[in-house]
Amino acid sequence: MSDTRTAVVTGAARGIGAAVAKRLAKDGLQVAVLDLDEAASQKVADEINADGGKAIGVGCDVSNEEAVATAVERVANELGAPTVLVNNAGILRDNLIFKMSADDWDAVLNVHLRGAFLMTRAAQAYMTKAKFGRIINLSSTSAQGNRGQVNYSAAKAGMQGFTKTLAIELGKFGVTANAIAPGFIATDMTAATAERVGMEFEAFKAAAAQAIPVQRVGTPDDIAAMASFFASDEAGFVSGQVVYVAGGPED
Ligand code: NAP
Repeated sequence: MSDTRTAVVTGAARGIGAAVAKRLAKDGLQVAVLDLDEAASQKVADEINADGGKAIGVGCDVSNEEAVATAVERVANELGAPTVLVNNAGILRDNLIFKMSADDWDAVLNVHLRGAFLMTRAAQAYMTKAKFGRIINLSSTSAQGNRGQVNYSAAKAGMQGFTKTLAIELGKFGVTANAIAPGFIATDMTAATAERVGMEFEAFKAAAAQAIPVQRVGTPDDIAAMASFFASDEAGFVSGQVVYVAGGPED
C-alpha cells in the first residue's frame, strides 16, 4: 500500500470505462478495473501495469450487494482506500414501452442506479474517513428522453439526481460528486445499437456525426478527459454538476 490515490472504475473491461481507467492510471492513480468478468478486467489491468501504472482486475456485479461490499474491501486491502469512484457500468435493454418487459426495466435500473448506489455507499466510507473523495457518475444525453429507452433514460436522469444529492450530503467531508452525460460515443454499446436498427456501424456513426455540432461522434478518450478533471485535486470546488460531453449543447 502507498499514499497514492486509488480509483475504482466500474464497467472498465472495455469502452468508456477502460479508457477512464487507463487515463486515471496515467494521471498517477492506482486503479481497480472492475467488471462482471474478472479475466476481462485483469486484461485491462495488465495493460495498465505494462504501461508503468498500477492496477488490479476485480470481478463484480455492481447490482449485487454482497459482491460490491467484498470487491470494495478487496480494493482497499490490495491497493488502498478507494477515494475516487467512477460509476460507469451500464447496459441497454431498448424497446418501445408497449413491448418492454418488466425484466428489461429492472435489469437497466439495477445496473445503473442500484449499482451506483451500492458502489457509492461502500466507497464513501473510505472517502469520508480520508476527508477526500471524488465520485463521477455516467449519465447520458438520453436522460432528456430518447425513443425506445424509457428504462435507460429514467436511469440516466436518476443518475443526475443521485449525483446532486451526493454532492449535498458529502461535501463537508471533502467529497465531490459530478456526472458526465455523454452523447454518441463509439463503443460496443453504440455498435450494438447500430446492429439493432439494422445499420452498418460506420454508416450509423456518419449519420450521427451529421447531427452533432462538432461534426463527429465522440471517443472514449473524450469522456476520460472529463473524468480526469473531475477526479483531480483542482476540481475540489466543482460539485453536483452535470457536464454534457456531446459535441454540442444538450441541456
Ligand atoms: P460498454 O462498451 O457496453 O461497456 C459497459 C461495461 O459495463 C461492459 O464491460 C459490461 O460488462 C459492464 N457491465 C455491465 N453490467 C455490469 C454489472 N452488473 N456489473 C459490472 N459491470 C457491468 O458501454 P460504454 O459505451 O463504454 O458505456 C459506459 C457507460 O457510459 C454506461 O453507463 C453507458 O450507459 C454510458 N454512456 C455511453 C454512451 C455511448 O454512446 N457509448 C453514451 C452515453 C452514456 P460485460 O461486457 O460483461 O457486459
